[in-house]
Amino acid sequence: MPPRVCSRLSHPGAPCFVRGALLAPGAVIRFRERAVSASRRGALLLIVAASSLLTCADPLDLCGPKTANLEFFSKGDCMLTRASFFQGHEWLTYFGNRRLSEDERFSSADLQIIAEGNRRVDWPKELLVHMNAGVLQYSSALTEYTDRPEVQRFHFLLDDRNDSAQAAEDARHELERLTLRALESWGTDKRKALTQVGRANHLIQDSFSPAHARRDTLDIKQPWCIIKVKAFIERADGFDTSDIEYHGGTSSDTVGHTTTQDSIYRQGRDCLEPSGADQVESCLSEPAKRAILATADYLELVQRMAVAVTLGNASPEVIVGYGLPDYISEHLALCEE
Ligand SMILES: [Zn+2]
Repeated sequence: MPPRVCSRLSHPGAPCFVRGALLAPGAVIRFRERAVSASRRGALLLIVAASSLLTCADPLDLCGPKTANLEFFSKGDCMLTRASFFQGHEWLTYFGNRRLSEDERFSSADLQIIAEGNRRVDWPKELLVHMNAGVLQYSSALTEYTDRPEVQRFHFLLDDRNDSAQAAEDARHELERLTLRALESWGTDKRKALTQVGRANHLIQDSFSPAHARRDTLDIKQPWCIIKVKAFIERADGFDTSDIEYHGGTSSDTVGHTTTQDSIYRQGRDCLEPSGADQVESCLSEPAKRAILATADYLELVQRMAVAVTLGNASPEVIVGYGLPDYISEHLALCEE
């Protein structure tokens, strides 16, 4: 029996399809509308709708502010983030932590806070209040926020007018700022510190997504410098030069597109919806594997820096100034530098 079309009257939890929005996870959403903002809104709505394929619920339940319970990162706090498509960062964080030696590994409680901080870069908690007005209002608020030039650096992306060198520089400054904030609150407010670690992980992990930056090689044993930083938002007048590459493809027609390049999984029918750590691990793409190594190195580094700060060896500024440049040149350098 085919699943029913969702409606507000559908029984909560019963499997059903959202009308007109049947998307496999990782599918490319194509829009050819003239107005970019309308296209973005459409894309977000489809994503919202696609994620509600999982179960039927009251539309207002799509992203209600429930208590987050990651439990092995299989659940979010709402339908939107519970969809497997959006769990990439959580898995990268989990596998990154698992690479550390047992005495340096974060506890699962700490890792939940890190993952939550990471996820909130894409889905800021403050915006959930718009769900009170409806899904459309929530998606508009999210689009407006996601399109702001000043937030592009959180995802290792170009803003509306900078070039790759400047964008990489902006992102590294952000990484420095987050690391400093984490170290400053490590001893007094661990939750705040770990949230910054999560935000830093997000930026690092996004830099390995082929939808965000083009790197010189996918060979896991080679150095992995960055050739070009891509754009997610529309470029300002005069800044949409032919060398700009976009998140969703090569032309500005693809502004705001969701793309399979942003998935942590390799292509293949067997990897459409992997579940459980073993299956997910066997489905990881090469860029995802490299993002995990960079995540592990950061998690190890930030803990060592925190120990140095706690021992009173030096101020957080001095420790960050001493410890971060090597990390940056190994994982976030432009090829031409
Ligand atoms: Zn992101």
